[in-house]
Amino acid sequence: MKQVTDNTLFNHIPLMRPWLEIAEWEALKEVILSGWVSQGPKVQEFEQVVANFVGAKYGIATNSCTSAIHLALHTQGIQPGDEVILSDFTCMADANAILMAGAIPVFADIDIHTFNLDPNHVELCFTEKTKGILIIDQIGMPANLDEITELARKHDCILVDDAATSLGATYKGKYLGGHGIPTTYSFHPRKMITTGEGGMLVTDNPEINNKARILRSAGASVSDLERHKAKGTILQKYATNGFNYRLTDIQAAIGLIQMNRLPEMIRIRNEQAMYYSNAIQEIDELEPPFIPSYAKSCFSSYLIKIRKGISITPSDVIHHMADKSISCRYGIMPIHREPYFTVRSLKDEDYPASCDVASRSFFIPIFPGLLQEEMDKIVKTLKSVFVKKPGR
Ligand SMILES: *Cc1c(COP(=O)(O)O)cnc(C)c1O
Repeated sequence: MKQVTDNTLFNHIPLMRPWLEIAEWEALKEVILSGWVSQGPKVQEFEQVVANFVGAKYGIATNSCTSAIHLALHTQGIQPGDEVILSDFTCMADANAILMAGAIPVFADIDIHTFNLDPNHVELCFTEKTKGILIIDQIGMPANLDEITELARKHDCILVDDAATSLGATYKGKYLGGHGIPTTYSFHPRKMITTGEGGMLVTDNPEINNKARILRSAGASVSDLERHKAKGTILQKYATNGFNYRLTDIQAAIGLIQMNRLPEMIRIRNEQAMYYSNAIQEIDELEPPFIPSYAKSCFSSYLIKIRKGISITPSDVIHHMADKSISCRYGIMPIHREPYFTVRSLKDEDYPASCDVASRSFFIPIFPGLLQEEMDKIVKTLKSVFVKKPGR
């Protein structure tokens, strides 16, 4: 069997491809032959490695980031009927996690430059039912944590930071999860590291840690690993009902190898982003991503905005790029527009920044296996879209 390392295999440049090598395959062999394939010692090790990396006390691995967010809300007391504020510029998974807790997602508009919550708009969303804010560090870029933490304090709300895409990004010099806010990560292949599917909640709070571990595994007071170590002499008790949100040792073994590679992934993505941002400055019609002084992005994706008043649309760009065998994608769709929320009759006018960014942004490929000549081709093709414009 041959490893896919060559983008020309599919005859096009993909938007993203995970960095997986023989080392991951070898790690799988070890786990499979050990006989322990469900949540066990590898999950425990993976939790410690990720928590240490980001600077949090505890890591609780889960089968997805969605379930990690649900645990973070549930363990902090979010109840049915509570309102939780989140960004309008995000995927359904964030709203789903809030709905899973029985709570009501309330959408706030974003800052047009950072694509993250606009604290001024968040302020307008509070009601007497507001109990939490789900911060999202969108597309690898940390949100303005201090301003949102201040709002949460003022309104007596709990916080969860969804850093699904942002493992390796820093806010004021520290990784997300290292700021005392319960923080979640995703290990889906579109994110920084992958375990196929998977997620993790990191926290410094021992109570959240204990509760989340129990809820993750059916509500059992004792994990399989603890019971095994005790040689069957302890019996688990169920003081609460729970979920099956367990990650497997098969996945954690892959995750451990991926974590070794994370610093290199962050370095390469930042170099690629720098190359793009320099090149895009030569195209008047395009705006490269904005980086606020408090943050360092990990560039899990690279989102470009077409400047206001330009007649070329993201659709035009995406089609032109596809003709040249380059995969691009539309930016994130404002979540208030999803058919599921139609009953609320939410208006685009209430989310001007989110709608504006969605209408004129698109993703271009960025990932560690992307070659320099492929990036050259991407930039050249982008330039040709805008040079074709009439009157130039
Ligand atoms: C991908 C993503 C999620 C969902 O992660 P899963 O692991 O697929 O559940 C949640 N929030 C954001 C911002 C994401 O990008």
